[in-house]
Amino acid sequence: MMEQLDAALVWFRRDLRHTDHAALYHALRGARKVWCAFVLDSDILEPLPRQDRRVAFILASLQELDAGLAGLREGSGLIVRHGRAVDEIPRLARELHVQAVYANHDDEPAALARDASVRGRLSDLGVALFTSKDCVVFERNEVLTGNDTPYGVFTPYKNAWLKKIDPFYLKAYPVARHATHLAPLPDTLTTPWPHRVPALGDIGFEPVDDLKVAAGMSGAEALLEDFLHRIDRYDETRDFPSVKGPSYLSTHLRFGTISIRHLASLAWERSQAGSRGALIWLSELIWRDFYHQILWHHPHVVGHAYKREYDRIKWAHGAKAEAQFQAWCEGRTGYPLVDAAMRQLNQTGYMHNRLRMVTASFLVKDLGIDWRRGEAYFAEKLLDFDLAANNGGWQWAASTGCDAQPYFRIFNPVSQSEKFDPEGRFIRRYVPELASLPDRAIHAPWLARPTDLAATDDWVLGRDYPKPIVQHDEARQITLERYAVVKGAKA
Ligand code: FAD
Repeated sequence: MMEQLDAALVWFRRDLRHTDHAALYHALRGARKVWCAFVLDSDILEPLPRQDRRVAFILASLQELDAGLAGLREGSGLIVRHGRAVDEIPRLARELHVQAVYANHDDEPAALARDASVRGRLSDLGVALFTSKDCVVFERNEVLTGNDTPYGVFTPYKNAWLKKIDPFYLKAYPVARHATHLAPLPDTLTTPWPHRVPALGDIGFEPVDDLKVAAGMSGAEALLEDFLHRIDRYDETRDFPSVKGPSYLSTHLRFGTISIRHLASLAWERSQAGSRGALIWLSELIWRDFYHQILWHHPHVVGHAYKREYDRIKWAHGAKAEAQFQAWCEGRTGYPLVDAAMRQLNQTGYMHNRLRMVTASFLVKDLGIDWRRGEAYFAEKLLDFDLAANNGGWQWAASTGCDAQPYFRIFNPVSQSEKFDPEGRFIRRYVPELASLPDRAIHAPWLARPTDLAATDDWVLGRDYPKPIVQHDEARQITLERYAVVKGAKA
């Protein structure tokens, strides 16, 4: 029987829930008194724009977490601090006289560096830092090739993942059973703001008009319930942005307001019962694990191509490239599906997966702009921004990554549009100035015939909607030449 500690602190980070939580479970089993804390880390928050949907999502989720903890044991709740985590966690550990801090792994390089620094500061105080896997099903070295090397190609990784999975890995951590060890919040606890969880204004942020996603565990549960009615058809619907096909759970997975074990076990059981939709959806969750282990094994992917030789590519730069980059960001490229997608991102903080591929490919292979600029733009705008998945997605689209799209396969933005938004329903939603164009003209308005425009009320290309900023066929040739440099051969 493990010797029990007197007191411990659970440090929440990307795991904002009070059920099926590895670190909380281990702390409750390991210590007689357990406090829970979240640090609004100024190292992360300071560089952000003052209006940020993610910060709003986090604060709303913290309120639910606080209430959830109090629901597990009356008088307990969440201690929230605003400052540098490297200072605040050791300070709290000292104030509360705990012997250990428990947290879940976060394998982003900056988080690992922060944790190393916190571990050192805690150990100066004689306090241990215990960390556990929580946010993925398999992490780090858990799924390796027969030679004990990490996988760099998805399909064999997925097969090994599926071979290894069994109910043990998907079992929930039974937190509630040990909740009597949650300690009441200390009387001495003071906060500079009126409530336990601050409002946006209390930490220097401005209100967000409409978050578009319900936050917290309740928001995640509602999305899941809705998705479970559709999961069996996911394989047929997931590629069409105007259709409610995917789960829209990515932000909740990012902030841990839902457990990955819960989702993976639902998908796994349903796929075992014969649901093809559930199996394909499970594959998406496996992609998530895949990119997380890539980041763990190959941290150079932050800022560099996974395949290092691709760092030699010369990307477009100068005034024209800058203007084209701005047009891409703002949804003014003249390619309707690309523009609709970028406007969806700017207006909602979400973009459909098919469109992430189309817009990323367009930036890199039609405009010749460095994938890292697109990656950074997505990182700023996406509510579900996750370093591992975003980097993996961008490197896939730019053909610089593991298991990438081969560089000579270049998405055609017009045929993608015809295929995945055939009636232009998604385009019309986000590019209303094209709404009156007939379906056959909406994917490439510059090719519209006078008869197509007869009923459009004096609509003029170049005035009412931009002319295309690049010719796809020419751009394709330039890209093949650009990438051929890497291969040491002319395409
Ligand atoms: P669903 O289709 O319901 O999928 C379920 C879950 O599986 C998602 O919530 C997500 O957690 C995971 N998932 C799905 N596809 C992928 C994938 N290709 N890689 C890794 N995980 C996946 N996903 C992010 O979570 N954060 C990002 O920052 C991100 N950036 C991307 C950038 C590019 C260029 C590309 C091509 C993809 C990116 N993705 C990212 C992956 C994917 O587009 C989103 O996870 C998905 O669109 C989220 O919608 P959903 O929750 O409805 O997904």
